[in-house]
Amino acid sequence: MEKKRIYLSCPTMHGEELEFVHEAFDTNWVAPLGPNVNEFEKEVAAYTGSKAAAALSAGTAAIHLALKLADVKEGDIVFVSDLTFSATCNPICYEKAIPVFIDSEPDTWNMDPKALKKAFEKYPNPKAVVCVHLYGTPAKIDELMAICGEHNVPFIEDAAESMSATYKGKQTGTFGKFGIFSFNGNKIITTSGGGMLVSDDEEAIARARFLSTQARDAARHYQHSNIGYNYRMSNVVAGIGRGQMLHLEEHKAIKKKIYEQYKAAFADIEEITMNPMNPDGDSNCWLSCMTLSEGCEVTPNQIMDALEAENMESRPIWKPMHLQPVFEGYDFISAAEGDISVGEDIFNRGLCLPSDIKNTEEDMANIISIVRGCFGR
Ligand SMILES: *Cc1c(COP(=O)(O)O)cnc(C)c1O
Repeated sequence: MEKKRIYLSCPTMHGEELEFVHEAFDTNWVAPLGPNVNEFEKEVAAYTGSKAAAALSAGTAAIHLALKLADVKEGDIVFVSDLTFSATCNPICYEKAIPVFIDSEPDTWNMDPKALKKAFEKYPNPKAVVCVHLYGTPAKIDELMAICGEHNVPFIEDAAESMSATYKGKQTGTFGKFGIFSFNGNKIITTSGGGMLVSDDEEAIARARFLSTQARDAARHYQHSNIGYNYRMSNVVAGIGRGQMLHLEEHKAIKKKIYEQYKAAFADIEEITMNPMNPDGDSNCWLSCMTLSEGCEVTPNQIMDALEAENMESRPIWKPMHLQPVFEGYDFISAAEGDISVGEDIFNRGLCLPSDIKNTEEDMANIISIVRGCFGR
């Protein structure tokens, strides 16, 4: 018999989700919009402490609309995290704007304030800064936002991976002009697919709802003065989200426990360092990751192969954007001392461990023993 698959991070449903979905069916609110969408928005706004939220079809759509609302246009420069998933920066290209990739710092793996400063020296007038909170660990938000503030440039937080993580007691995604969350299947909560744009600017969120529903002017006939998008979340999907919101804190607690368990289990192996936490924040530990020391005889690939042989899913660290063929030719700004950027170094030496909250104690013990085995322990 094939061994049970152990996942990196996959959906965990509880039952309430289906009740909200049933409600949508029973009241025939199967069309887009409806009570679940409105309530889900209110619940996310209340939970995060944002004034307003717009439920959308994807986190990527939320980033796209954040850029539109920040008036990013063709030829504009946008500074963006280099070490991230491509969805963070793809929407910059949808608008024919120009991404400039900013290297990470080693303390949180997120956008390096020193590199951001350097980028402003080279390009004094970017239209926006898009910063990710990678793997759920908050970036150095105060430092980054101080620099953006000096230049009067809007700060947009890609909190797709960090929902429920806090920085100085406040939710990630609520610091910048805009924040975005993702409810893709692998995220800490999921709606099977979806996203949310949050902001304290209620007018901007109303505008996002307008743009996401084909930009229909207030006229009886179909009249359009803007290019619109079909980006709204459906009422069925929002029902799943409402059910998941009831378990967000619980998911976070289990993710954090998984991280702590790995950290303790590998504490005696000098070559292993777990991904960093921000001492000013509280990570949601969406994925537990490790890096191997420089010159370590064991490679990330060997560990991934050993896990895969036992039907356990692991994954490399996101490959930095400036190394992606599709983004060749765009500028990359680093403040790294050596001849390799911080992001590339993390990519070379790191991997993501199975971080699914349904992993049992036995699963965790098995994963740990396979990783330890790679080091002859
Ligand atoms: C998942 C993810 C997104 C995209 O979210 P979707 O809902 O899949 O569109 C954006 N940025 C980061 C960092 C992500 O991990």
